[in-house]
Amino acid sequence: MQFSYWEQDAMASAHCIVVGAGLVGLQTALSLRTHLPGQRILVLERGMLPAGASTRNAGFACFGSLTEILADIDSIGASAALDLIDQRWRGISLLRKLIGDEAMEYESMGGHELIRAAEQPALERLDEANRLLHPLVGKAVFALNESAFATAGFGPDVLAMVSNPLEGQLHSGKAMQALRRTAVQNDIEIINGAEVVGLEEGASGVDVWLAGGTCMRAQRVAVCTNALIPSLLPSLPVVPGRGQVLVTDPLPGLPFRGCFHIEQGYYYFRNVGERVLLGGGRNLDFTAEATTEMAVSAKVQDALERMLADTILPGRPYRIASRWAGIMGFTANKQPLVERSGQRVVAGFGCNGMGVALSPLIATQTARLLLEG
Ligand SMILES: Cc1cc2nc3c(=O)[nH]c(=O)nc-3n(C[C@H](O)[C@H](O)[C@H](O)COP(=O)(O)OP(=O)(O)OC[C@H]3O[C@@H](n4cnc5c(N)ncnc54)[C@H](O)[C@@H]3O)c2cc1C
Repeated sequence: MQFSYWEQDAMASAHCIVVGAGLVGLQTALSLRTHLPGQRILVLERGMLPAGASTRNAGFACFGSLTEILADIDSIGASAALDLIDQRWRGISLLRKLIGDEAMEYESMGGHELIRAAEQPALERLDEANRLLHPLVGKAVFALNESAFATAGFGPDVLAMVSNPLEGQLHSGKAMQALRRTAVQNDIEIINGAEVVGLEEGASGVDVWLAGGTCMRAQRVAVCTNALIPSLLPSLPVVPGRGQVLVTDPLPGLPFRGCFHIEQGYYYFRNVGERVLLGGGRNLDFTAEATTEMAVSAKVQDALERMLADTILPGRPYRIASRWAGIMGFTANKQPLVERSGQRVVAGFGCNGMGVALSPLIATQTARLLLEG
């Protein structure tokens, strides 16, 4: 298809184009707007809806469970681990301020971690994690929660529960709808069904090639396509990780509420009203799950169902209402990255499975670096 004269004249160029309408892309566009009042800012999204992770996640507003934080301390050091938690902690506040709790149905029901035999050594290091976090939040974050554990009805493999009152949960679909509304109110145009297939930077701008053969033009381009960044910018270091989820029908009288983590966050579940949403299992086969294919697999879904039946809802009948997958983007050391790829192109990525928390800061930094070029 070729653009008409009218389209070419009024619609095919923008001051800034953001590729990808997920959490990072929409917030990058909003951040650009604060610096560029009156300029045309356009978001191009390949899907009819966002088609990556932001509307397909679990909706945890979390900054790290006890075992995940301890694993981070051991692998990247206490100072880098604290820096990451700080970014997540500040990011959650920024997102709540931007979208508003009511619009995204944010609920402060706390985060919890199930401790089985394999996780028991972490209890010895509870004070170490609390000491690390103290400068950030001014109080002890993690504590054994005997009363909630006693009534939750988990399976015999669960020996204890550690709770963190500072985590929350939200409705990912409503959060993204609200973010989109805010973008539109700020005169940001979003075009869906626009897959970008190539970027060519020249002296005076960037040609943005779309599937179907049309080309748009912008002064600057932010690439916020998460795990799919390498298809446009092959040198950037992000690796896909598929996340799989299932959700049950409502279970009247469900005896627990909040966000739950198991095994360093490789498994996670929460209540959605009286339903249980359960996800994870990527660690069962890292190689197979390092894919951008948005399909569920029997191996992971079977493991999720076993965990549901044995650990989360033992002895309780349930029915699975739906299952889905989404694609996350991982970096080598869990740090988010904002990288220049030419004078006029910047990419922001690497939420490493915690985009609810990390996307606000990645977006701000992406917009800032783009405008510095
Ligand atoms: C199953 C699952 C559970 C998760 N649970 C949580 C959670 O509970 N809490 C949490 O904090 N995080 C969670 N995450 C991670 C979180 O969702 C992501 O970190 C976050 O959504 C990433 O946002 P993004 O904008 O970088 O990427 P995305 O949301 O993937 O957005 C990128 C967008 O770019 C579009 N795109 C890609 N290529 C092109 C192209 N060539 N042209 C045009 N558009 C393109 C995609 O369609 C997509 O909409 C989860 C992720 C998954 C998959």
